Amino acid sequence: MLNTPWKTRIIRFAHLHQGQSVPMSKLTGSSRTIMGRTIHKRTLMSPSTNWLNRIKGEIRHDEPMANHTSLRVGGPADLFIVPQDVTDLQLIYKNHGDLPLFILGEGTNLIMNDKGFRGIVISIKNKFKSIESPLFYKNSEGEECAVITVGAATKMSYLVKNLAKYSLTGMENLVGIPGSLGGALIMNAGADGTEICDVLRSVTRVNAEGELETLKKSDLKFSYRKTTFPSQGGIIVSAELELKKGDHATIQNTIDSHLVRRKNKQPLSLPNSGSVFKNPEGEAAGRLIEEAGLKGFSIGDAGVSIKHANFIVNKGAAKASEVIEIIDHVRSTVLKKTGVELETEVIIVGER
Ligand SMILES: Cc1cc2nc3c(=O)[nH]c(=O)nc-3n(C[C@H](O)[C@H](O)[C@H](O)COP(=O)(O)OP(=O)(O)OC[C@H]3O[C@@H](n4cnc5c(N)ncnc54)[C@H](O)[C@@H]3O)c2cc1C
Repeated sequence: MLNTPWKTRIIRFAHLHQGQSVPMSKLTGSSRTIMGRTIHKRTLMSPSTNWLNRIKGEIRHDEPMANHTSLRVGGPADLFIVPQDVTDLQLIYKNHGDLPLFILGEGTNLIMNDKGFRGIVISIKNKFKSIESPLFYKNSEGEECAVITVGAATKMSYLVKNLAKYSLTGMENLVGIPGSLGGALIMNAGADGTEICDVLRSVTRVNAEGELETLKKSDLKFSYRKTTFPSQGGIIVSAELELKKGDHATIQNTIDSHLVRRKNKQPLSLPNSGSVFKNPEGEAAGRLIEEAGLKGFSIGDAGVSIKHANFIVNKGAAKASEVIEIIDHVRSTVLKKTGVELETEVIIVGER
C-alpha cells in the first residue's frame, strides 16, 4: 500500500498547477502497487500527472539515491524515472511543469543530500548505451581518423577500452574516470592534459522544451570542469566523437599505466566521489588540504582520505551532512592557512 507521505506528495504534484485540493480518498482509492506505472493509473491521476501513464520505461518512488551515487549517500527521490527511449524523455520535458528535474549519470560526481530529491530524478543508466561502428575517413592532412556515435549512458572506461580495439587514440588519458559519457560532457571531465571536449564533434540532447536537437562543438563553451550550452537544461542522449588512428600497443600501454596510477593514488576500495575540490590555478587542491594537516580528518563515517587528500571517503554509514561538514571545515581551514578559497568540483543536490 502507498504510505501517507507518498500519497501526500503525489497529491501535491497532481495539483501543482491547479491550485485546488481534492479529497485524499478520491485520489488514493484502491491502488495497491507501489513500484512502477500502475500506481499512477486511474486512482492517483489528475490532468496534470496523467502523462506519467504514457511513460514506457520504469517509474519508482522514494528511490534511495544512496544506491545510485558512488559515495553511497543520499535520501530518496520522490520519483525516479528510467526512460525507455527519447520519446519518454520528451514526454517528461514537455510535461513536468514545476516539478524539479535532476539528471543522474553514474552519480560519481554527486553528493545527494540526506533528505533526497523533491521532484523527478531521471536515470538513463540502463539505456542509451550504444556504441556505433566508427566511420573512418582521411583528414585534410591525410591522417586516418574516425567519427563514432556513442550513447550518453556509456561508461567512460568501457568506451575508452572499446576505442582501443579500433586503435583509435585521443581518449586513453580519460580511462578510469568512472562516470558516463553524458556526465563527462556536462563536467568537461579531464585527466592528464586531455578533456572530453578535445574529441567532441557534436552533442544530441532533448532540450528543456522537449525537442531533440544536435549541437556542434562550436555551439558549446568549455572550461575547467564545465561545459556551457547555448540554453540551460535538457538531457544529453548521445555524442559524436572524433578520434585519430593510432598504434594499438601504445594506446593499450597508456590505458594500463593510467589504471595502475589511479589504483596506487586513489582510495578506490572505499566509496567516494572523486576529487571534491577543483584545483586552483597552478595548484593541487589535494596538496593544500594535506599541508593544512587535514588528511584523515573525519566526522562520523566520512573522512578525508589518507591516500589522497582531495577525496572524501565513506567508511561505512556516512551521511551527506557529515560529508558536507567536512567540505566546509576543509574549505575554511585551507582558506585560513593559505588564503586560497577552494571551490567544489562535486555537485551537491537535494533537500538538506
Ligand atoms: C574515483 C573517481 C575518480 C574520478 N576521476 C576524475 C578525473 O580524473 N577527472 C574528472 O574530470 N572527473 C573525475 N571524477 C569525477 C566524475 O567521475 C566525473 O565528473 C564524471 O564525468 C561524472 O559522470 P557521471 O556520469 O557520474 O555524472 P553524475 O555524477 O551522475 O552527474 C554529474 C553532472 O552531470 C549531469 N549529467 C549526467 N548525465 C547527464 C546527461 N546525460 N545529460 C545531461 N546532464 C547529465 C548531472 O545532472 C550532474 O549535473 C572521478 C570520480 C571518482 C569517483
